[in-house]
Amino acid sequence: MKGIVWHGPEEMSVEEVPEPEVEPGTVVVRPTAAGICGSEIEGYLGRMGNRTPPLVMGHEFAGTVTEVGEGSDEDLLGRLVAVNPLSSDGTCRLCLAGLTNLCPNRRLVGIHSSGGFAEYTLAPAANVYPLPDGVEARTGALAEPLANGVHAARLGLADGSVEHAVVIGAGTIGLMCLQAAVLDGIPEVHAVEPVQTRREQALALGASAAHESGEVAHDALEDSTEGLGADLVIDAVGAEITRRMAPGLLRPGGRVVYIGLHDDDTTIGFHDVVRGQLDLQGSYAYTAEDYEQALEWLVEGKAGIGGLPPVLPLEEGPEAFAELVRGPSAQIKVFLAESGA
Ligand SMILES: [Zn+2]
Repeated sequence: MKGIVWHGPEEMSVEEVPEPEVEPGTVVVRPTAAGICGSEIEGYLGRMGNRTPPLVMGHEFAGTVTEVGEGSDEDLLGRLVAVNPLSSDGTCRLCLAGLTNLCPNRRLVGIHSSGGFAEYTLAPAANVYPLPDGVEARTGALAEPLANGVHAARLGLADGSVEHAVVIGAGTIGLMCLQAAVLDGIPEVHAVEPVQTRREQALALGASAAHESGEVAHDALEDSTEGLGADLVIDAVGAEITRRMAPGLLRPGGRVVYIGLHDDDTTIGFHDVVRGQLDLQGSYAYTAEDYEQALEWLVEGKAGIGGLPPVLPLEEGPEAFAELVRGPSAQIKVFLAESGA
C-alpha cells in the first residue's frame, strides 16, 4: 500500500509500505481525512525527539473501518470513525490517578506506530468512535487537536472561576484552545495573533477580541480588568517570545497554561512569577474524556475551523509539509488521504 514516509529532517516521500495486519483488540482503518499537526512540522524538521525515522506520521484522522480484530466489536466494520490515537496502559500510578495522558507507557498512533498518512492504519478498537450519519471525516479528524484545547482550557479552569482569558496564537491549537475556553463558559476570551486572517478567524470562532500583539492585548485588558490583567493565559505557540509575553498579561495569582512546543530553552523573568504568585502550568495531550468532549462539540457543530479545505491525495503530502515549513498559510489545516471524503 501507499504511505508517506518521513526519513529524517525535511526528507519525506510517498512509497510502498507494508499493509498493517489486524491484531486482537484492534481495527484496520482506511483514513479518508488525516490532518497535518503543527508538531509534525516540527517533527519533519527533526526537532521532536519522540519521532524516529523511518515513520509514517498522522495522528489526527478519521476513516472507514475495513477489518476488525478478534475481540473487537464486529459492528464497527464499514463504519466511518474518528480515531483517538493516544492509548495508555490504564494500570500505572499516573493512569490510576486520572493522568492517562502522562502514562509512561502511552502510545500514539503516528508516533510509536505507523499513522494515518497511508492507505491503511491500525488502531486500538477501544479508541475508535463511530461518527453519526452526515458528519464527515474531516470533522472527526479535528477531534484530536480540539481535545488538546479541551485539556489546556480545563487545566486553566481547575481552580474555579475565570472571567478573563487570553489565548496567544490563532493557529489550529490556538483556535481549539479558544473554542474550548469559550464553550467551557469563560465569558471573555481574547486572542493575540499577528496574522490578520487568523485574527478574523479567531473572532468568527468566538473570541471577544483579537489583538495583533501582546502590547495591544495588555492595553485592552487594562480597561476590562481594572488594570489587573487576565485570570488565565494560554500560550498556544511556545516560542520564547510568547512564553515571556504570557506572564505579562496575567493578574497577580493568575495562571499560564503552556501548550505550544515551538522552542525548548526559554528565559523568563522570575521575579514577577514569584512576586505575582503566578502559576505556570504545562499541558500535554488529553485524556479519553477530553477527546470525547471534543468530538461531541464537533458533532454538534459547536466547534470547528470554519470552512473545511479539500482532502489532498497522499502524493501531495511531501510538498504540503515543505510548504507548511515556509510559514503560516491562510488555510489553517491541511488534510491528506488516499481516498478523500
Ligand atoms: Zn499508565
